[in-house]
Amino acid sequence: MIYKRSSALFSEAERVIPGGVNSPVRAFKGVGGTPIFVKEAKGAYLYDEDGNRLIDYINSWGPMVLGHAYQPVVDAVIEKAKKGTSFGMPTEIETKIAELAVSMVPNIDKIRFVNSGTEACMSAVRLARGYTNKDKIIKFAGCYHGHSDSFLIQAGSGASTFGTPNSPGVTKGTAKDTLLAKYNDIENVKQLIEANPNEIACIIIEPVAGNMGCVPPNEGFLQTLRNLCDANNILLVFDEVMTGFRLAKGGAQELYNIKADIVCFGKVIGGGLPVGAFAASKEIMDYLAPSGPVYQAGTLSGNPLAMAAGLAMLTQLNQDAQVFNRLNKKTAYLHTGIANVMNKNEVVHTINRVGSMISVHFAKDAVVDFETAANGNNDTFKKFFHGLLHEGVYIAPSAFETWFITDALSYEDLDFTINAVNNVAKTL
Ligand code: PMP
Repeated sequence: MIYKRSSALFSEAERVIPGGVNSPVRAFKGVGGTPIFVKEAKGAYLYDEDGNRLIDYINSWGPMVLGHAYQPVVDAVIEKAKKGTSFGMPTEIETKIAELAVSMVPNIDKIRFVNSGTEACMSAVRLARGYTNKDKIIKFAGCYHGHSDSFLIQAGSGASTFGTPNSPGVTKGTAKDTLLAKYNDIENVKQLIEANPNEIACIIIEPVAGNMGCVPPNEGFLQTLRNLCDANNILLVFDEVMTGFRLAKGGAQELYNIKADIVCFGKVIGGGLPVGAFAASKEIMDYLAPSGPVYQAGTLSGNPLAMAAGLAMLTQLNQDAQVFNRLNKKTAYLHTGIANVMNKNEVVHTINRVGSMISVHFAKDAVVDFETAANGNNDTFKKFFHGLLHEGVYIAPSAFETWFITDALSYEDLDFTINAVNNVAKTL
């Protein structure tokens, strides 16, 4: 495959944009080589600036659950844009999408829209602190909740890819209020709670981790967290930026039948436009300004184009009762197919999957937390990534990311992918 134009565009970008990209993982630093510049995308495919067609397993890191340029979303955005792109004043569509989201997700009464997953998680934690009048939070190593200061402590995703899970610029004062636990290790959480009595405002968790590759919660782990929170007056915050409107209509709360106190959204909820949201019971949400004392705001929050895209996306997911089943089946098919060809070629690997989130770890043992995820063989991952790219299959350029499956993928696309994995596995 030729990447001549992508390479030239990247060189130009590097002159005026730090690292040539507006978000680090895009830069291919973890895998080497030059990032692909996208020209356009439709359904399951990306078309790059050199004319290559790639089957896309990133799907904008999650939002494109129904495929790229999904017609109802595109139409909704075009129609809205004709009527003005931002007002900074209330619009009816904000209430419409809020009503729909509240009806789809269990256990929430009110929702506030923001512009990114980072903002959603940052605001959720401020709300939890204000509501409980406590300062500390527990987060899990390898989980990523955006790039807000409190979360850049052993963060997953790009932070781990570049070996900087703790960023310079985060003050010691901020860092001391973030307590770090091991994913799937309930004893560790108990110890932290005991060592910090009446100081912990919330536990924030990706109910299915997707930022150290896909790492599912162990059986009973989320329920035990729920019980610990109840016993200690701690709020449980589910970061459903990846899992929301993807694993089920009601996200991980529905899938695992666990009630979170505050839920964060991003990605799918905006249909591919920059949207995040956080939601909770009426009592907790009314603690936010202007009804309550915790301040949170945004000039472009509830932007009409973003709301139109999100509403079209959620409407479709709400109407199509079978969509989550189809996504599960397609991902299970891919899972089995990849496992077969990896085994046939004797490649040491572990595949983790929950619903339409899946990742291939080049590790022998079960991957249950950040440590076991980081044990994966990164040199093999690099070869795997570039091999697949050469075959026309685009996965995230980091071993610490999940693949996102879209309903736009046909079984032919999945067979094509499994065949590509077979070709690459032979060379590993
Ligand atoms: N939480 C999770 C679970 C995420 O995966 C991400 C982004 N990948 C974020 C929060 C931050 O979202 P954003 O990049 O939109 O700020």
